[in-house]
Amino acid sequence: MSTATLSIDLDALAANWRALDARTSCETAAVVKADGYGLGAGVVAHKLAQTGARRFFVAAAEEGAAVREAVGPGPMICVFSGHMDGDTGLIRNHDLVPMLNSVDQLLRHVESLPHRAFGIQLDTGMNRLGMEPDEWVALKDIALRQMPVLIMSHLACADDPDHPMNAHQLRVFHELTEGIDVSRSLAATGGILLGPDYHFDITRPGVGLYGGLPFDEAVPVVSLDLPVIQIRDLRAGETVGYGNNWTAKRPSRIATVAAGYADGLLRAIGSDNVHLFTQDTSCPLIGRVSMDLITVDITDLAQEPESLALMNTEQGVDDLADAAGTIGYEILTSLGARYKRVYKG
Ligand SMILES: *Cc1c(COP(=O)(O)O)cnc(C)c1O
Repeated sequence: MSTATLSIDLDALAANWRALDARTSCETAAVVKADGYGLGAGVVAHKLAQTGARRFFVAAAEEGAAVREAVGPGPMICVFSGHMDGDTGLIRNHDLVPMLNSVDQLLRHVESLPHRAFGIQLDTGMNRLGMEPDEWVALKDIALRQMPVLIMSHLACADDPDHPMNAHQLRVFHELTEGIDVSRSLAATGGILLGPDYHFDITRPGVGLYGGLPFDEAVPVVSLDLPVIQIRDLRAGETVGYGNNWTAKRPSRIATVAAGYADGLLRAIGSDNVHLFTQDTSCPLIGRVSMDLITVDITDLAQEPESLALMNTEQGVDDLADAAGTIGYEILTSLGARYKRVYKG
């Protein structure tokens, strides 16, 4: 068997949702876009619904349809991209709630699906999605008459608690929504950690549920075990991998394991201090990460391993992200489709 195993600990996922929920006195939703940050939106949403989540957020209507399949009728499924041309059937058939981003989307929604639930997304400074303040002020009375179920916005710098943008966006969000009797949501994982001023009625954590920063108290959710395909002995001076990138300084034993950048293990992780693990020993990743293979220096192991762990409690998504010069979000959502996925809990 030469397929790597990605293990997803659903009890850890549930524990992270509860821990984030315990940080606030309001409702905690769950963001399961991008196939549940790469871990399987259906399984993840089903577990979180059992744990108590009553509302899910996805990026696109197609993702919402898949989540509806998994959670059944009942939970609210909100779509960040709003009501796009061509979405009407999906929104109707799967009972989705679009977060409308513009006057065009509002018109499309009330014309094609009058009396069907929707929310409003406001831009408070990130300039990515949502109605501009001027647009909202002009549209507000008409929009409110259609009874939105949620008004939301998104913080651009919430992973940096000291960034002045946080307070600025909070002030703008208050100005745009004060006196309106509709549920409000501003905080994702980072916003929850900024404290109660940012919580409003509903929070929308994503990455923290999956064990990633900025939720530094998260329990790890993923582990990754890579089967060893071949082991060879090298003389000092021999080289390993593309570009002769690594040279043995001593007689060395090298293991080749089955996974590479085609499985989401970014080539850039090879340039830093990344290890693979047996139960009790860590072995350095050496040479370049190639498409399907990684090489590991196992000279110091007493026994030949059958597999080596690249992610475990010692080395998590954010450690690999640091090594690759990116963020845990990108590591999670890059994890390839080739792994055998094992869900625990
Ligand atoms: C992705 C996203 C979230 C979740 O963010 P995390 O940082 O993963 O918690 C919440 N709201 C919006 C609008 C998003 O795009």
